[in-house]
Amino acid sequence: MNSTETKKIRSVFHVKHKEYITPHFIRVIFNISDNQAEILSNVKSGSNNKIFIPTDEPDTQEIVRTYTNRKIDIENRELSIDFVAHGDNGPASAWALQVQEGDFLGIGMKESTRPLVPDADSYLLVGDATALPVISAIAEQLPEGVNAKIIMETFGKEDEILCCSAANVDIEWLYNPTPEKGSRLAEKAKEFKFLENEQRKYVYVAAEYSTVKELRDYFRTDPSLDSRALHAVSYWKAGESEDQAGLHKKQSS
Ligand SMILES: Cc1cc2nc3c(=O)[nH]c(=O)nc-3n(C[C@H](O)[C@H](O)[C@H](O)COP(=O)(O)OP(=O)(O)OC[C@H]3O[C@@H](n4cnc5c(N)ncnc54)[C@H](O)[C@@H]3O)c2cc1C
Repeated sequence: MNSTETKKIRSVFHVKHKEYITPHFIRVIFNISDNQAEILSNVKSGSNNKIFIPTDEPDTQEIVRTYTNRKIDIENRELSIDFVAHGDNGPASAWALQVQEGDFLGIGMKESTRPLVPDADSYLLVGDATALPVISAIAEQLPEGVNAKIIMETFGKEDEILCCSAANVDIEWLYNPTPEKGSRLAEKAKEFKFLENEQRKYVYVAAEYSTVKELRDYFRTDPSLDSRALHAVSYWKAGESEDQAGLHKKQSS
């Protein structure tokens, strides 16, 4: 497969284990069968997916949401997704709150061998709690010798999930117990300056809609930043479900 080819995959996964890894994050670990191991061999940890949440209503279609394949561990036959437990006001969060071992979930994803971020000398990675899974996976996959400044918002100190990386990582945490009421993430990210001698820079932003909009507008006007060096994607929109916000239509999975 060449680096740009993608193939869609959809399969039903059974829950092996569920645990609160912090007070606001539920990790759901799914079993990977032998067949699934084969189809997942070209899917990267940190890639995004579509989850298909079953409903109790007989004539109602399943509900689709977008999440991150936090870890695909073929050797141990485990696929993990980390859900922000934001309450039972959303079907995905509600599903994670009540799910039990043996329950199932349809998950769709795309095969791709493309790295999560392109090569660069220095990275700025900005995200709120929903982006902690993807930013952790990016940090884990960055090579030695590159610099990465991570500005991460989560609910409180107990929700810091420390990631490991071969890169020179400098991580700054912001706490926000009510992200649906606004965030200081954009303000903080705007204070960051790349070093003068850093030529190949890359900025990755994944967070609530307003933060992403503000930072997209900000970094687009930075003449030292190539347009291909900016990835800014809304992961959710305060006060609107994923369908209402139309976010899933704009995302590639
Ligand atoms: C590419 C991509 C990858 C993502 N990966 C992850 C991931 O790995 N883990 C993860 O937890 N989320 C992730 N998200 C975000 C997730 O898709 C949204 O939070 C989604 O709205 C959750 O669906 P829901 O059914 O729980 O709530 P919805 O039905 O979509 O929304 C119901 C209500 O809950 C509010 N809401 C939604 N999310 C949050 C939140 N995080 N905090 C507070 N209020 C919220 C909405 O504003 C709305 O008012 C990702 C999004 C994208 C686009």
